[in-house]
Amino acid sequence: MKTCPNCKSEIEDNWDLCWNCNYSMIENKVIEFKETTRISRKIECLRCKIPLIFSGEYKFHEGAKIGFFGNLFEAFVNREKFDLYICPKCEKVEFYLPQKG
Ligand SMILES: [Zn+2]
Ligand SMILES: [Zn+2]
Repeated sequence: MKTCPNCKSEIEDNWDLCWNCNYSMIENKVIEFKETTRISRKIECLRCKIPLIFSGEYKFHEGAKIGFFGNLFEAFVNREKFDLYICPKCEKVEFYLPQKG
């Protein structure tokens, strides 16, 4: 066992990262993990000319009635997730296919 120099937690000898505070023995500092590495698109609302806000992924429930949309969704048959963007001003909602990678 060794002791984290930052938070004094006990760490297994073969660990180089503190389980408690993310202190790295190699880099000698606390590593901050970014919550999302997703690059959000810069999309403007056509009406308001302000950037849309990324508000998460929209997932179709299994058995959702996609058939109603007919041909419109035929191209998206294998996609069940969409990125959802909302205009903060006029609250227009836009769907985009998730980015790859
Ligand atoms: Zn620590
Ligand atoms: Zn708008």
